[in-house]
Amino acid sequence: MKKIRRCQACLSYTLEQTHCGLAAKSVHPPPYKLQDRFADYRRKAAGLE
Ligand SMILES: [Zn+2]
Repeated sequence: MKKIRRCQACLSYTLEQTHCGLAAKSVHPPPYKLQDRFADYRRKAAGLE
């Protein structure tokens, strides 16, 4: 799965490493991914895994 990046020059989203001749920076993962990470963290923190 490719990571979504955001061009720092024109502020548009892209899947490319560069845009407008500049390096496009990665953005935060989608909300559902974030929830998965927190759920996984909670399980580990609770000692259930
Ligand atoms: Zn751009």
